[in-house]
Amino acid sequence: MVLGGDVVVVGAGPAGLFQVFELGLLGLHAHVVDSVPHIGGQCVELYPDKPIYDIPAIPVCSAQELIQRLQTQIRPFEPRFHLGDAVKQVAPLSDGQFLVTTRNGTAFQTRALIIAGGLGAFVWRKLAVPGADELEGRSVHYKVADSHQFDGKDLVIAGGGDAAIDWALALVERARSIVLIHHSTKFRAVPAHVHEMQQLCAAGRMQFVEGEIVGLETGQGTLKSVRTRMRSGVVQRIGADQLLVFWGMHPALGPIAEWGLELDQQQIVVDPATFQTSIPGVFAVGDICAYPGKKKLILSGFHEAALCAFAVKEYLNPGQRVHLQYTTTSPIMHQRLGVAVDANGDPIVAPDPSTREPPAAAEPQARPQRVANR
Ligand SMILES: Cc1cc2nc3c(=O)[nH]c(=O)nc-3n(C[C@H](O)[C@H](O)[C@H](O)COP(=O)(O)OP(=O)(O)OC[C@H]3O[C@@H](n4cnc5c(N)ncnc54)[C@H](O)[C@@H]3O)c2cc1C
Repeated sequence: MVLGGDVVVVGAGPAGLFQVFELGLLGLHAHVVDSVPHIGGQCVELYPDKPIYDIPAIPVCSAQELIQRLQTQIRPFEPRFHLGDAVKQVAPLSDGQFLVTTRNGTAFQTRALIIAGGLGAFVWRKLAVPGADELEGRSVHYKVADSHQFDGKDLVIAGGGDAAIDWALALVERARSIVLIHHSTKFRAVPAHVHEMQQLCAAGRMQFVEGEIVGLETGQGTLKSVRTRMRSGVVQRIGADQLLVFWGMHPALGPIAEWGLELDQQQIVVDPATFQTSIPGVFAVGDICAYPGKKKLILSGFHEAALCAFAVKEYLNPGQRVHLQYTTTSPIMHQRLGVAVDANGDPIVAPDPSTREPPAAAEPQARPQRVANR
């Protein structure tokens, strides 16, 4: 099925979310695609609990809270989110539209595309030893699709964050054995869960090894053991049927580099008046865009999103000037925001653009579950 709509926004980080707001004020509806299963970009993926001090008029808030506030702010515009799916290809069509396709096979036909892809799509940090790629999905895993496949198995879990610790705790009763491998005795997980894991180790129910994985040994196409360099420098074999690697995610520009856009050091070159890229109809905002003086800050992304929305509106309605209106005084903006009332005090509902898709059934999660990929 090919979905239609005014605009497709690639990326649900702070810039992509605020872009939805600025488009909504001008009466434009957006589909938003993000490769991770939750909104928030770097704020949620890299530093959810850290305080941010440089958002205008908010002296301090956590990165997670900022995303929740943005989510609330854009709610009236009912963006349709497509999360856990990366935009793979952008192909121009003969009528001036673009066919935008995703990894999971969703397709959009749109006249305007806004790339708010930050540092790129977040991808799993993978184990880089020979044989790991061939075993991926069979004996080497970066996420858990069906936890029962580990019942009765000898497991090695690599990592020191919430996902590694929580999965060790969740599987300890069901696996035959569990060895947790981490390069340090410092963990980035909920202290109570770390304590629980340490108690299980003390009781001999699982094992913790401080070291790093240096190789895999296989037999008949399956994993047999994990070679680990211990802190002492000695390399040891740890027998295992299954290896779960939870080293988190890192951003990679990925497919965006292949869309034919002018790039400058992995960033998309834009006109700083319109945020249009080298391809008419394709715009870029936030960390991913490059122009003289660009600063990779959230507030820069907000400014860029505002100007970009005006440029997109003019691009979609050639020859029509888009007048600046204030949210304080504009009746049409009040209607779009759902805050307008008639003489009786009843809310006036904004006219719905006929092209609008139904809103997503559920609100997207701003934060991953305690075990991100459970
Ligand atoms: C530790 C840390 C602290 C920071 N502190 C501050 C601060 O105090 N103040 C401040 O202003 N800034 C701060 N920043 C920077 C700030 O987080 C970034 O400027 C901001 O997140 C950029 O927002 P964005 O929406 O452009 O991109 P991002 O937040 O990177 O979001 C981009 C999204 O696009 C998605 N994406 C990319 N490619 C694709 C694709 N092909 N298909 C689908 N989805 C895709 C990604 O998965 C990602 O979710 C900090 C950054 C870090 C790492």
